[in-house]
Amino acid sequence: MKITCEIIRDLLPLYHDGVCSLESRMLVEEHLKECESCSSELIAMDKVLPIKNEENQWDDAKSVIQLSKKWKKGMLRSLIKGILSTVIAFAILIVILYLFIDIKIVVNP
Ligand SMILES: [Zn+2]
Repeated sequence: MKITCEIIRDLLPLYHDGVCSLESRMLVEEHLKECESCSSELIAMDKVLPIKNEENQWDDAKSVIQLSKKWKKGMLRSLIKGILSTVIAFAILIVILYLFIDIKIVVNP
């Protein structure tokens, strides 16, 4: 039985991950010696994996950024709430003082 490139390419991922049987491994290695395109296929697989890892790391980084963004949003919201309540308290105080002064002026003309 002749082993075609198609069969080898089916086996290549298993060979690459080292999970194929010894017999398949020998078949693949035998084929790779003679077949340029399947060898480059295997080399391409070696190159694909680090890129995938980088993508995963990028995803992790993105989720961290999103988390910190959410956190900042929460911080900003509580900061605004704090400022707002301070401003409202001041406004009430000013109104009370103004009224009080006004009354004083009215009482002592
Ligand atoms: Zn081949």
